[in-house]
Amino acid sequence: MIHQLIHNGEIIEYDLIESRRARKLRLAVFPGGRVKVTLPHRMALRHMHAFLRDKIAWIFSKVEYYKKIVSITPPRDHKKIREEYVGNKEAALKIANERLEHFNRHYGFSYRRVLIKNQKTRWGSCSRLGNLNFNYKIALIRPELADYLVVHELCHLRQMNHSKKFWELVALTIPNYKILRRELRRGLLN
Ligand SMILES: [Zn+2]
Repeated sequence: MIHQLIHNGEIIEYDLIESRRARKLRLAVFPGGRVKVTLPHRMALRHMHAFLRDKIAWIFSKVEYYKKIVSITPPRDHKKIREEYVGNKEAALKIANERLEHFNRHYGFSYRRVLIKNQKTRWGSCSRLGNLNFNYKIALIRPELADYLVVHELCHLRQMNHSKKFWELVALTIPNYKILRRELRRGLLN
């Protein structure tokens, strides 16, 4: 349900969610400026109103902050991202398969399926069943970075962690992995 807060003549809307599971009153402001209040099922509304009155300056400043951020970063265009994904999926799969085959001549691990995904925050993953997943952006980055990514997931087949042993395995074929890893970490969330 949408409710309103008024502060210095300005109005902010918030979603009020009644929850049977919540133990405490919760307040969250999200990027974009959406405000959500979670009210434990048995809590009286007047407690919530008192709580919001206490926090009102903070809420307004947080919403302002997020509005400013939104205005300087263009919104992610989901349709465009979807198109980019569809357009690159096949090339990504080809690169992943070819490079896996290449590096696995060295390692000789066994894996099952190779999948290309459209993920916002991950470059790749390795499942316990031995499936290897890669972000479609593997087709859009430098081959050197794609190779690192392939080897990283490949080595998880043997070491399901980021231990010293894991990195030693990676270093066998990608000695400069540290630099590449840093570069990839900077590059995804744009
Ligand atoms: Zn990893």
